[in-house]
Amino acid sequence: MSLINDNYLELEQRYLFAEVAARVSAFSEKNPEASIIRMGIGDVTQPLVPAVIQAMHKAVEECAHSETFRGYGPEPGYDFLRQAIVDNDYAGLGIKASEVFVSDGAKSDTGNIGDIFSANNVIGITDPVYPVYVDTNTMTGREIVLIPCNPGNGFTGDIPDRKLDIIYLCYPNNPTGAVITRDKLKAWVDYALANHSIIFYDAAYEAFIRDPLIPHSIYEIEGAKQCAIEFRSFSKTAGFTGIRCAFTVVPEQLTALSAQRKEISLNHLWDRRQSCKFNGASYISQRGAEAVYSPEGREQVKAVIDGYLDTASVIRNSLQKAGLNPTGGENSPYIWAQTPAGMPSWDFFDLLLERAGVVITPGAGFGQGGEGYFRVTAFNTKDKSLQAMEKLTELVKSL
Ligand SMILES: *Cc1c(COP(=O)(O)O)cnc(C)c1O
Repeated sequence: MSLINDNYLELEQRYLFAEVAARVSAFSEKNPEASIIRMGIGDVTQPLVPAVIQAMHKAVEECAHSETFRGYGPEPGYDFLRQAIVDNDYAGLGIKASEVFVSDGAKSDTGNIGDIFSANNVIGITDPVYPVYVDTNTMTGREIVLIPCNPGNGFTGDIPDRKLDIIYLCYPNNPTGAVITRDKLKAWVDYALANHSIIFYDAAYEAFIRDPLIPHSIYEIEGAKQCAIEFRSFSKTAGFTGIRCAFTVVPEQLTALSAQRKEISLNHLWDRRQSCKFNGASYISQRGAEAVYSPEGREQVKAVIDGYLDTASVIRNSLQKAGLNPTGGENSPYIWAQTPAGMPSWDFFDLLLERAGVVITPGAGFGQGGEGYFRVTAFNTKDKSLQAMEKLTELVKSL
């Protein structure tokens, strides 16, 4: 008789976005005439930029001829991309190409990284949070300590007064849109160094940062190479959510202890894990990703993100005027706001859908710390977003 991994029974029954989709389709069935504006979209909506398309067309053409055809590539990624990442994203930070592992997604990497760590680690996760961190650690049966994020700590958590072995940080944050200052990030790095903890730093939204004082990488902080793994993705940076390309940085000097208390290189372990369980991101997506760093690519990608940021700022201003105390929406495509009169977030979700035809994401879906909040994304068009905000404001006024 085969046995399952019982930890899976501990997972929430339904993934947040499946629940949102189910409620929206139930509403549409009952109200086929009602128009719906989706402000909960967690996916980019603008097409890939011309520089990327051109590079991928060229790569496809190469694969059409035996002389230039590519089969399996190196598991950690092609040198051309690893080098472009180091030269562009980590210029002056002393990261080497051998420390960059290209993959098909930051979601899978943030989940899979747990493979090389003991199930006995105690995990600190900021709350509210991107659900993947909690779910993947629940699957392994690890002890999770939630780190409350609220207006009092700028949604960047208080430095814990107990020892945590691994801490997940994500800035600019999904769902709160909050960014972290250099000083606060340094406080986290200092905590990790003092406690021999490791920080998993998810910088998937790094490309939305426009404020020159906000760090793009945790390696901008001294000592971070001794305590941090960084995750990045071309998904939100360059519209690769369907193409799939991301990378994880594991510095060579980063270590953790074996059961025999020996220091083991995490770069080596991750390399071992990836070459065993992963066969590399496609050549075509890696050529597309490389083009993001070309002069035209950078300019085109920046213009797309500027568009999302423009919409984000419109949303933020509307929510401010409606008195809902938004955060985010600057240096981030996400805006996080309080429900009117402290209404439970799923109640507000239902009310807004039924009375205004506007879909948001209820904060409670991102953890207990999200109760009383909701998330709006800037991935719809500016026009639709404006319409949605007008409807939302009217509804809030009528309450
Ligand atoms: C979208 C997102 C990612 C990116 O995941 P991919 O698998 O690379 O598409 C990673 N982390 C967070 C917090 C995200 O919101």
